[in-house]
Amino acid sequence: MKCIFCDIASGKEDAEILYDNVGIISFLDIRPVNYGHALVVPKQHFENFTSLPESELKKLIHTTQFLSEKIVSSLNADGFNIIVNNGAAAGQTIFHFHFHIIPRFKNDFNFKPKFKAYENNNMKEFAEKIREAVKQ
Ligand code: AMP
Ligand code: ZN
Repeated sequence: MKCIFCDIASGKEDAEILYDNVGIISFLDIRPVNYGHALVVPKQHFENFTSLPESELKKLIHTTQFLSEKIVSSLNADGFNIIVNNGAAAGQTIFHFHFHIIPRFKNDFNFKPKFKAYENNNMKEFAEKIREAVKQ
């Protein structure tokens, strides 16, 4: 199946490459939330966060940390968001794993969802469900 990020990683498709090393490539997102919005992508195809092997994840997270610092310092950003969308419901559109690094500037925009309040003691219920899964 055609995968645009596999094609960018193999050089078949163009991108504004920022970094290319040890099985990882980083390039600018073509639809940036802020200028300098970058993606950090393993060259090998993994669909999402949960399918990444540990060794790959380690390399990716270190590279993401390294690149975040470089993006902030080169663009004089005030902060940054690291985002991973997993699954269509979470907004994933390219099913080849990637970290987003989004440089942030004071008063640029609000990224805040509408917060919920737990009701009728259901905070414990949610915690119990997750704790059960953690135990297994
Ligand atoms: P996600 O919604 O987390 O799957 O993010 C996919 C991101 O890839 C989006 O922010 C797109 O703007 C970006 N994108 C899609 N095609 C390209 C491309 N050819 N080059 C750079 N970024 C891309
Ligand atoms: Zn791919």
